[in-house]
Amino acid sequence: MTMVSMHTAVAEQVVDAIRSVVGPGPVTLHEPSFAGNEWEYVKECLDSTFVSSVGKFVNRFEVELADFTGANHAIAVVNGTAALHVALKLAGVKAHEEVLVPALTFVATANAVTYCGAMPHFVDSEARTLGVDATQLRDYLARQTEQRSGHCVNRSTGRVIRALVPMHTFGHPVDLEGLLAVARDFNLVLVEDAAESLGSYYHSQHTGTFGLMGTLSFNGNKTITTGGGGALLTNDGELARHAKHLTTTAKLPHAWEYRHDEIGYNYRMPNLNAALGCAQLEELPLILAGKRELFQRYSAAFASVEGVTLMAEPKQCQSNYWLQALMLDAEQANQRDRILEQANAAGFMTRPVWVLMHELPPFSECPRMELTCAQLLSQSLINIPSNVRGVI
Ligand SMILES: *Cc1c(COP(=O)(O)O)cnc(C)c1O
Repeated sequence: MTMVSMHTAVAEQVVDAIRSVVGPGPVTLHEPSFAGNEWEYVKECLDSTFVSSVGKFVNRFEVELADFTGANHAIAVVNGTAALHVALKLAGVKAHEEVLVPALTFVATANAVTYCGAMPHFVDSEARTLGVDATQLRDYLARQTEQRSGHCVNRSTGRVIRALVPMHTFGHPVDLEGLLAVARDFNLVLVEDAAESLGSYYHSQHTGTFGLMGTLSFNGNKTITTGGGGALLTNDGELARHAKHLTTTAKLPHAWEYRHDEIGYNYRMPNLNAALGCAQLEELPLILAGKRELFQRYSAAFASVEGVTLMAEPKQCQSNYWLQALMLDAEQANQRDRILEQANAAGFMTRPVWVLMHELPPFSECPRMELTCAQLLSQSLINIPSNVRGVI
């Protein structure tokens, strides 16, 4: 067999494997599923006229979210990016500081750092979790930083590195044990970008509850959606109070007076969105079961496709399998675009992973470590249709 026909075969095998699991196309990458009380709760908002900043669903959503994740507190906000912005602000991130974020992430992680006037500092990921590599990061920080009066300082830039924001890629938990140790040893605040990992557990504890704060997203493409939405998780009561205050224009409670004691944000989740969220939360266990079942079916279908591995949850972790991902072996990495072309042409929506952050114009000048693994991953990952409809 010539090299060309061998390569063609890989793309065809991938398309056939996808088709064998999801049926004939067209099939989207990810779409929301509204199979429960969505209509009823949203209608209740409309009927009551409480669609905006007042209404019972916001509190209820927060309580149920805290309940589900095991966090002491959840604060619902307008989107996941806003949640990250406020979490970083509360973590003490200030102008002209740096924050460690993976180069392999959605742009929101890096954007939120800049909203605090700080600069993202990009770090490498590992293939095992698709998240920040704790071992490499430790070595890098040992070389690149020094401690000055209890602060981690970048030797090259002289700036304080305030925080570390790992992200749980496609729902697969990062090496939290390793990263919490790095954060402790180098005096960094750990904030988890858990936007993709609602329903994912590290050693039986929900992601987003390990750091000082964690953030979730309920955008339309996430595991559950509120239309647009996000939340902050924290176990610290004072931080939770401050987060709520900051995200509701920092208004002091009063029957009629408008008095605001600091610069706040209009980040509160509207009642209408929270109503949708309450209905979606009720369905979350079923959605998670469906995602896991889909993973099993893809596993079986891809077992015989050589050079292609379906991404599985890391050891001692439970992934929500938000987006199913294929990893191409080094020899197959040059076939990525051919696979994407053939799959999309056949009606199966597939996508490469994000362009690495340091390759984007606004972040090209940011400090970064060697990104060997992230570079490799960015060339070899493909997301495949991940809908639960038809599975559950
Ligand atoms: C979705 C997402 C966010 C935030 O999303 P919003 O669209 O602002 O809700 C942040 N980080 C990552 C990694 C995400 O995937």
